[in-house]
Amino acid sequence: MMARANPVLLNDILKLGAFDVTACFSCGVCTATCPLVEEGGEFPRRLIRYAMLGLEDKLLGAPELWACYYCGECTRSCPRQADPGGFMMAARRFAITKYSIGKIGKVFYDKIYGSIALAILSLIMALGIWWLHNPIPGGNVDLFKFLDEGYIHEGGLVLGVYVGIVALANVIIMLRYLFKSSNIPKASIGDWIKGFIDTLFAEVLWQGRYNKCDSKGRFISHMGIFWGFVLLMIATTIDYVTGARQLSAMVLGAIGGVLITVGGGYFIWIRLAKRDEYSTYSDFVDWMFIWLVFLAGITGFLIDLFTYYNLQLTTYTTFAIHLIVVFDLIVTAPFTKFAHAGYRPLAVWIYKVARKPQAETTTAV
Ligand code: SF4
Ligand code: SF4
Repeated sequence: MMARANPVLLNDILKLGAFDVTACFSCGVCTATCPLVEEGGEFPRRLIRYAMLGLEDKLLGAPELWACYYCGECTRSCPRQADPGGFMMAARRFAITKYSIGKIGKVFYDKIYGSIALAILSLIMALGIWWLHNPIPGGNVDLFKFLDEGYIHEGGLVLGVYVGIVALANVIIMLRYLFKSSNIPKASIGDWIKGFIDTLFAEVLWQGRYNKCDSKGRFISHMGIFWGFVLLMIATTIDYVTGARQLSAMVLGAIGGVLITVGGGYFIWIRLAKRDEYSTYSDFVDWMFIWLVFLAGITGFLIDLFTYYNLQLTTYTTFAIHLIVVFDLIVTAPFTKFAHAGYRPLAVWIYKVARKPQAETTTAV
């Protein structure tokens, strides 16, 4: 069936990034120089063609969209200065808005609506803490005396269920695009399992494709943020299971906080300094996400530091700020760069399996 063309597709993507692919004459140099293109893949050239022809479903159903880590090699080598790397990044932003249930994601890609939404979310959480907190207890700092652990655990569970449901709904929308574009390969169960294991270890835990990009600073910082969140999740789980603040959880939480703070700080710095292609253009949602990550990390770390020195008011205030930031981060997660954590491994898994010869029969554009 012929894919329906969207005549304003390129304009819609352009609103989410600065690039000029109209200059592209489809030479394919970008594909040839991309360190992440593997056998059977043809990005970014083919995806640029989709966008120029208005083939929205094809673009949104292309797993290659997520196989790119924006290392910028293609942008540097493009003879027409069409900034294919910038296009790929903007196309991913566009995809996130399209995959998001009820198109909610669009809110966070608009500076004004995004700021209002963030302010409302923060206010809701601040009022909730104000309403539920206990008078500041005497003696040693005890976060669970300031705010009953039941509220934190139940609130965390509700947020976890919310993220799970919304993320699943978004992934289903993404998969529908992939199915519509016939990009779900017909492969044996063995190939799927092999692809899954490969993706889990090489892509998720080690992020080997990211490591192929030139920028080691970005790779290390990205790893730091990823593992920082993993450590924080482990620390939270220990606290949840034992029902009290454990020394092991505090240590893991502090390490996780440092990793996230340093990693987030690095990304803020390169975006402010506009050091390379990757950091030249930042959307509102990029800033929102990276600042929330940084603040979540630094407040998490400071809580443990202030607790250690038994600074009562300072600790409880930092704790309240930390909860507001984490709430904002989690509620917006399915619609921000955080969503890459779900879409990318899934798409790369499919991309790896699809690199089999039978997938190379897709329509050439
Ligand atoms: S983006 Fe540049 S390098 Fe890539 S196909 Fe177009 S003109 Fe060639
Ligand atoms: S930005 Fe890097 S990973 Fe992405 S398409 Fe260009 S060269 Fe490949």
